[in-house]
Parts: sequence; C-alpha cells; structure tokens
Amino acid sequence: MNHLLEVEHLKVTFPTYGGEVQAVRDVSFSIDQGEVVAIVGESGSGKTVTVQTIMGLIPTKNIKAGNIRFNGKDIHLSKKEMRKLKGSEIGMVFQDPMTSLNPTMKIGKQIAEGIRKHQKLSKAEAKQKAIELLRLVGIPNAEERYHQYPHEFSGGMRQRVVIAIALACNPKLLIADEPTTALDVTIQAQILDLMKDLQRKMGMSIILITHDLGVVAEMAQRVIVMYGGTVVETGSVFDIFENPKHPYTWGLLRSIPNLHDKEKKRLVPIDGSPPDLFSPPKGCPFAPRCPYAMEICVEKSPQEFDISNGHTASCWLNDPRAPKVEAFIAAGRE
Ligand code: SF4
Repeated sequence: MNHLLEVEHLKVTFPTYGGEVQAVRDVSFSIDQGEVVAIVGESGSGKTVTVQTIMGLIPTKNIKAGNIRFNGKDIHLSKKEMRKLKGSEIGMVFQDPMTSLNPTMKIGKQIAEGIRKHQKLSKAEAKQKAIELLRLVGIPNAEERYHQYPHEFSGGMRQRVVIAIALACNPKLLIADEPTTALDVTIQAQILDLMKDLQRKMGMSIILITHDLGVVAEMAQRVIVMYGGTVVETGSVFDIFENPKHPYTWGLLRSIPNLHDKEKKRLVPIDGSPPDLFSPPKGCPFAPRCPYAMEICVEKSPQEFDISNGHTASCWLNDPRAPKVEAFIAAGRE
C-alpha cells in the first residue's frame, strides 16, 4: 500500500561554533491518507526539525541523508519542490498565528491570495471561496470579518484564520506544530474540536507536533515518540498509552494519570538532561537517564524491536534475553 508520506533515514545537522549539532539522526516513518499522527518528545528531540524538513524550511545543505516521498513521488528535498507542495498539497499551522499572518493585510485578502496562488479562480470566485472557508472554520459574520485586519481578531479566531489559509487548497496533509499551545485552555479545546471535525469532513492526514499528551489522546490515531534526534517508539494511541515498551515513553506517560482525566496535564520533566547532540552517545541516547540501563545500552545502539503490528520500540529491554523489569509504571498504575 502506498503511504501518503514516507520519510526514510532522514539526517539533519546544523554547524555551530561549538561543532555540528546532529538534530535528526536516521529518522524513518510513514503517514497514511486520512491518518492523524502525533509526534511527541521533549524540546531538542528533533520533532520540529523533522517536520520543518518535510515542509522545506531547512536549507538543503543541512540535510545530510534521507528521502521523503509524498503521494508516491520523491521529493528531492529542494526548496523549489517543497514550495510547490506547500499550500497546494501540504498545509501548515504554527503555534503563534501572528507568525503566519501579515498584520498589514486584511484577513480575507490573505486567504484569497493563497487560493489564487494555487487555483485558477477569478478575484470574485476566490473571495467567495475565502468567505466560505471563514464560515467553515467557525468565524461568525464571515462577510464582514473578511475585511478586517489580524489585530481585530482574538488569538483563537486568528488561529481559525490560519487554519482557513492552510485549508484553502484542500491539502492532503496538514502539519500542525503545537497549534494550541499559545491559546488558553477553553480555546484550545475549541480549536482541537475544529481540527478533528475538519479532518473528518475533508479526509486529510494530520501530523500533530505536541508536547501535550492530553492533545495526543484526544486527536491522534498513531504516535511517534522521539528522543535525542531519533524515533524511540511508535504505535497506535492504544499501544503507546496502554502497552508502552520504552522507558522514555514510560517517563512521558507519568504526566497523565489516565486517559479519561479531563484535567490538562503537561509532560513532566524526566530527571537528567537530553543527550549532547554535538557528539551523541554510541549506545542508546537515553542510557544516561534510564533507570534500567544495562551494559549493552552504553555499548550498542538498540535495534528497532517489533512489538506487534505497527508497534515498534528501540530499547534492549525488548530483546528476549533481557531481564524482565517491573516497568509498566505509567502513572496511575504504579
Ligand atoms: Fe534504557 Fe537500555 Fe532501553 Fe536505552 S536501551 S531505554 S538505556 S534499557
């Protein structure tokens, strides 16, 4: 089966005065049509750099290896190719709506321009479509709001406008990087409901970057857990929440007592610091912080173990010869 998006062995580095930062190290994953996949991890885990590479926001010289295929076609990681896809097949929503909106241009014009860039429509048709999109994302009095500037909108309404711009060309994939982090809790829930509703109506795929496991449980079908520039575990939401197989995932899960708890929880920091990405360890990147680290963990990077269909974890504890640990310590089960 063809995946909508395939990322294979992606490697991204950034030169700095202190040396080369290995931000993404051999990352592979795929997304299917209509799937909502969350990428979670602490800051510095490589999640944002990974999606920025997919979006063509990382200079080609920093991409040291890897392939990205979208809708069966190789994207040669050039800015030109990515620009073609952006806005036509891939839409983007960022944390701060003001970074995506031009403060000096009326909202409606910004949406209509996006539409006309990718579709052959007259000005009047693009305006009509822009008004329809404003309605679709739940902006009341869309005709009047069309003529207003971003500063006349609240934070939540601005994020709705950004979503309308992202949807303007019926994207197959929407990439949302912490889309609700800057909003207050009630508005967050409304924006998530809107995204869920639109995803169902339009059948698009969503990659959701978040550090909030409550959002993951609410939105995603599949989860990719990243640590130290690598994917350490991937599986369905059920696999990750109910049968996690990596000590880093166990650490993340301690921040949510159970899936049905409505209270908003953030990831609690795990003891120790993330790995030094100037010279990543040769073994498991989590070893210095892992209470279960064994000799082999320091010596040899763990292979990816298949746990069940679609569930993998890169941790030596999943080797049949490894000691069985009392490890299922997602909070609430301790
Ligand atoms: Fe811990 Fe070893 Fe598993 Fe890494 S491979 S997470 S150090 S047990």
